[in-house]
Amino acid sequence: DMPAGQDIAVSATSGTRPVSKDSVINLDHGDPTMFESFWRWMGDRGSIVIPAWQTMSYFSDVTNVCWFLEPEFGQEVRRLHNLIGNAVTEDRYIVVGTGSTQLFQAALYALSPSNAFEPINVVSAAPYYSSYPAVTGYLRSGLFRWAGDAYTYKGDKYIELVCSPNNPDGSIREAVLNSEAGKTIHDLAYYWPQYTPISSPADHDIMLFTVSKSTGHAGTRLGWAIVKDKDVAKKMVKFIELNTIGVSKDSQLRAAKILKVVSDGYELPNTENTSKLFDYGRRLMTMRWEKLREAVKASGIFSLPEFPSSTCRFTGERTGTNPAFAWLKCEKEGIEDCESFLRSYGMLTRSGRHFGVEPNYVRVSMLDRDETFELFVERLSSVN
Ligand code: PMP
Repeated sequence: DMPAGQDIAVSATSGTRPVSKDSVINLDHGDPTMFESFWRWMGDRGSIVIPAWQTMSYFSDVTNVCWFLEPEFGQEVRRLHNLIGNAVTEDRYIVVGTGSTQLFQAALYALSPSNAFEPINVVSAAPYYSSYPAVTGYLRSGLFRWAGDAYTYKGDKYIELVCSPNNPDGSIREAVLNSEAGKTIHDLAYYWPQYTPISSPADHDIMLFTVSKSTGHAGTRLGWAIVKDKDVAKKMVKFIELNTIGVSKDSQLRAAKILKVVSDGYELPNTENTSKLFDYGRRLMTMRWEKLREAVKASGIFSLPEFPSSTCRFTGERTGTNPAFAWLKCEKEGIEDCESFLRSYGMLTRSGRHFGVEPNYVRVSMLDRDETFELFVERLSSVN
């Protein structure tokens, strides 16, 4: 996701490597550059060539509810979910979006009653992903409005956003509200085996996924929604039609190829271990979390959430949880604003304030490049 907006972020390690040992380290956003090394290793296997005469039409498949969905992309999405077992896709509609950020807005549009006197309330349990209030509110819609923490919400009409595993704290979540008239959107951006054991195929009304966090291709700006109800899917498609008249076909073809390479890594015979994305991701994330916990211990003034381990249905092994973000709490007396405290040591993180909680918490990205991550743990361990 995007920086919360400090100017200093521009000169720090955003999208680049640290220039020196003293570089400001930017772990404020969740830029998944960690996966670059895997795709470099894969060489040309994920490359595509698009001749100039291709992908010119607005339309992809006029017989599909989502008429701008490239059939290859839809097929690879279903194939990958079947392989991983993290979501039900049979008899479901796939809607493609410019990132899951666009699909989240399409889902709000689709779930809002069109004839209400007042905007519908949009809630999520704190700490919630900082983009939810920002994206819900920025156009001051007459259809929906941000209403804060779901735990304290009173009322039976609402749209609840359920992010699981949760950004920022990595917790496994279910909806906290359960009114008949309430609607839910499940944001499953991190429900992939590199981050968490896969417990069962998710089967909710609207589920959002993105290549940003699954394969690391945030710049391709491609997400997909798995939708149960045809009318809801149609309204989401209508939103995207009004918003951007569809979604880049070039991006869809590229993403289709990338998802294909990921599935091939597991399904083709005799593929080497180094071409298995989720194994690579899990190994790296496990190592990083170990290093982070060591650094936190060495420093002595922070704490991190603990996670239970369980059996992953994809790997068949008992595995731990390695979230894409560290939800770091500053326990040092007198330090109320952990973000400013860490900034004074040249580390940019995102304050708990943006997630609806106290500023003694910060969120730190675990998905940056090795050099940046190493510099971060080294610097963090010496903070006291
Ligand atoms: N949902 C969550 C929970 C996220 O963390 C992010 C990215 N930070 C997104 C959605 C947005 O993903 P995309 O890049 O597909 O718009």
